[in-house]
Amino acid sequence: MRVRTTLLSLGLLAALLTGCAGTPATETAPSPSDATAAQGDTVTTQDDFASGDGDGQTEQASATSREIDADPRNDEFAVDPERTDWNFEPSDTKTVYLTFDDGPSENTQAVLDILDHYGIKATFFVTGINPEYAPMIRECYARGHTIGLHTYSHDYAQVYASTDAYWEDLAQVGEMVEEQIGYVPCFIRFPGGSSNTISADYSIGIMTQLSSDVVDAGYQYFDWDASCGDGADHTADELVEATEADTAYGYQNIVFLAHDGAGKQTTVEALPRIIEYFQSEGYAFAAIDRATCVPHHGIGN
Ligand SMILES: [Zn+2]
Repeated sequence: MRVRTTLLSLGLLAALLTGCAGTPATETAPSPSDATAAQGDTVTTQDDFASGDGDGQTEQASATSREIDADPRNDEFAVDPERTDWNFEPSDTKTVYLTFDDGPSENTQAVLDILDHYGIKATFFVTGINPEYAPMIRECYARGHTIGLHTYSHDYAQVYASTDAYWEDLAQVGEMVEEQIGYVPCFIRFPGGSSNTISADYSIGIMTQLSSDVVDAGYQYFDWDASCGDGADHTADELVEATEADTAYGYQNIVFLAHDGAGKQTTVEALPRIIEYFQSEGYAFAAIDRATCVPHHGIGN
């Protein structure tokens, strides 16, 4: 059953979630300093999970390119206003849905290699912040991960200037993804999450409006139940500790927020330990699909 979050009082919004439950965490844009600070830094996990020589990658890429043209997910995951069969009940299996926001970037390849090493699938809510990395979207999809739309610009002032501005930005990131995988996916994540209040600086009530309108248009927005806290800068140790603290409640399904954007090298560094932590807690891993229990934060604007 779907809870009408727009009717909840503001004081309760942060604490109440629909469906799969958890504690909202902060999702932020990478700062310009993030993008430049880590250039050239050595990340040991990239070496640990290097994916082989160039020839092998080329052969793999051409093979996967053929495969995704006939991928059944193309029809299943395409935005479709006729499909309203969203699920708000947790599955029977303890499952964590790793999600990565703000990529693709120079960190995406390392994240993919780690996911492959552990044989798990995840979800990438992508942006157009680093358009030179757009081909990584196709690579993520070809490796079996789900692609969702985050935002093209990730500029809150621009995206939330008006509902028209939001739709323009969503169309722009949708076009970018369509160029890579052949369709516009139905899965989206609002910049800052649906509970963000920064949008009120630009348009009062815009999240209330958009959270309803995107579903009417055939999309579904996925907030998150827990995070490693990498919206701010932290060491890998701190990210692992935050993961354990934020998931201590032990929910059945966890949509987990992390970032593969520029400057998020410590997320890459922490990712193997985060995965092994969830494994030790008995969780399976899955990429978001239309059957995933949808987490919604309370609307704050
Ligand atoms: Zn973001």
